[in-house]
Amino acid sequence: MFGLFSSAPRPTWKRVEDDFVMGACSRRIFGFASRGDGQIWAAFDDQSQPLGSFDGLADAQNAMWEKHRTFHARVCEPAHARFPQRQARPKVSV
Ligand SMILES: [Zn+2]
Repeated sequence: MFGLFSSAPRPTWKRVEDDFVMGACSRRIFGFASRGDGQIWAAFDDQSQPLGSFDGLADAQNAMWEKHRTFHARVCEPAHARFPQRQARPKVSV
């Protein structure tokens, strides 16, 4: 049952403003991106360290998730298995 999460980690994206997006997994916020002039997005990790500037939000999101992915597999998923959040309980769909 816990394999549900480890096999398909899925970040969610919260658009706070038109020019500000946060990335979250099941355990934490792992990054954010803000748009400057035009369509250039600056991405940051959860320590506010810059990950780079990207020509489009999708590329910024990829950079944020790639930065967090290893940590997620090592820390977030085991923690989630030990202390599942009530609202994050997996739904069984057949
Ligand atoms: Zn995570």
